[in-house]
Amino acid sequence: MTDPDKNKSLQPGSSTRYLLCSDLDRTLIPNGKQEETPSARPRLRELVRRAAFCVVYVTGRNRALVEQAIEQYQLPWPDAVIGDVGSCIWSTFDRSWSKWPQWEDRLKQDWSGPHLEAIRALLAREPELELQAEDRQTPLKLSYNTLARGLDQRCRHLRQVLHSKGLAANVIGSIDEVDDIGLIDILPSMASKHSAIEMLMAAWGFQHWNTVCAGDSGNDLPFLTSALQSVLVANAEDSVRERAVRLAARRGQQANLYLARGGFHGMNGCYSAGVLEGMVHYLPEISAWVE
Ligand SMILES: [Mg+2]
Repeated sequence: MTDPDKNKSLQPGSSTRYLLCSDLDRTLIPNGKQEETPSARPRLRELVRRAAFCVVYVTGRNRALVEQAIEQYQLPWPDAVIGDVGSCIWSTFDRSWSKWPQWEDRLKQDWSGPHLEAIRALLAREPELELQAEDRQTPLKLSYNTLARGLDQRCRHLRQVLHSKGLAANVIGSIDEVDDIGLIDILPSMASKHSAIEMLMAAWGFQHWNTVCAGDSGNDLPFLTSALQSVLVANAEDSVRERAVRLAARRGQQANLYLARGGFHGMNGCYSAGVLEGMVHYLPEISAWVE
């Protein structure tokens, strides 16, 4: 990798590479209700500075908000960012952002301007659904606020409404536990954090065994409960944990869902501590690199 921040501290001759795909808010960013163990983020920063690691942020944030988070929380500079809930991929090598047009081209196969406008007009009639500010909307994503209560039922209802009009879309619900509001994103059917991770793994030649994904909430569930090696941080809401366990079991993926619980190096398993705990669970050979 060409990131100047990477110190080349791999063992001579070793060429093993690892990919960390992590959500930001309440996964790497300690902006939930629980405390962060103070040593957790510095430890994670030190670990992924090694040349062996590629880091990808997988987030609902747009570019400006990702840049703000990196600065504010002193997060490691990533190699790529999957933003806008999976509807956009940027390479971020050498601190310059370049979009992957091939991803957007693929998403646009079933999502045009008129398609977007038709969805927007249809959903304007839905009660308890409030379009977020215009700077949170993109040509490939509509984002709404709603009540946290009844979020799953509302998402199911919206899927039926769109389906009945022949409007293909992916409806993804998440809860902002701090403000206690529901967030609903409407995306092209192929777009999700999970599908974008798979696309990036294929493009960069990462496999199941050397990739670890981390998340905490509803829009992370598709990848958390997939065949990808995943960790749910300990600060996740109980309802998310229960759903993740149920879905992973239904899909036969229990071995690919690690629930961070704390205790690793005396840390509490929340946020970066949980990410580290999960990485070492799947990749025990890196444990010596975590001080
Ligand atoms: Mg999150």
